[in-house]
Amino acid sequence: MGDKIFADLHVHSTASDGVLTPTNLLKQAHDAGLSVIGLTDHDTLCGIPEAIEAGKKFGTQVVPGIELSCGWPDKEFSLHVVGLFVDPFSVSLTRLLKNQQRSRFTRAMSILDKLGRLDIDVQPLREKFLADKDRVLGRPHVARYLREIGVVPDFQEAFNRFLGQGRPAYVPKEQVIPEDGIRAIQGAGGLAVIAHPGLIPDWHQIWKKVESLPWDGIEVFYSEHSASSVDFFRNIAKERGLGMAGGSDFHGDQGKHAHQLGLFGLPEDYFRDLETRAQRRKIDSNKD
Ligand SMILES: [Zn+2]
Ligand SMILES: [Zn+2]
Repeated sequence: MGDKIFADLHVHSTASDGVLTPTNLLKQAHDAGLSVIGLTDHDTLCGIPEAIEAGKKFGTQVVPGIELSCGWPDKEFSLHVVGLFVDPFSVSLTRLLKNQQRSRFTRAMSILDKLGRLDIDVQPLREKFLADKDRVLGRPHVARYLREIGVVPDFQEAFNRFLGQGRPAYVPKEQVIPEDGIRAIQGAGGLAVIAHPGLIPDWHQIWKKVESLPWDGIEVFYSEHSASSVDFFRNIAKERGLGMAGGSDFHGDQGKHAHQLGLFGLPEDYFRDLETRAQRRKIDSNKD
């Protein structure tokens, strides 16, 4: 078996912050010669039914997935947890996502309240948010708006002056702790994978906090992992008997992560190992 990239288990569509619809994503994956795509949109399962339909058309297997933003209260950084082979209709996972969405909306509204008290006209954005409650709302939307109305010259300045920690319109995020994220993914029959560990600042510190959690795998192969990080995380996976996941984090544009499909991901034997682990999880959960 060669090292040809067979499966890309980390991609985003328009269901979250990607640029391509699930259908267009599957078409590009097919054209790039991939056999399997794991759709892992941020905090939503909405793109999966369309992806599965498109996968049938192009003869590409779709692994239903998600990328959950997890973290700890009062911490600015987040830990991304990728779920693979999840049931896209799982009640527990859907409930967690609904709660997350609700708290994101409440947070967005309190940010606008604070900006309003600083005499910034946020009414148009407030109306937009109210009309679009189901979107994944966050500070980037507010930052873009502040730039558009000329309150700040650029995006970063909006964080520096208003939105960042310690600034006047800062509102802490209610975070899903990694334990709960893992539990929801596994409850949905999926594998919980620690995402792009090579991008985590202070890896050793974070790993100490989370190494005892019941992970199923580590995203060893990733578009922005150097060869030495791949070795490093592969060794951790081997030592712990964890699965090795991998993907591009393709968002469909030039802005973020991989610019192209087909270059990053997993050779077939690695993918089959994950598939076996997922099947085992399903058999075990049926026994309960
Ligand atoms: Zn991520
Ligand atoms: Zn991602």
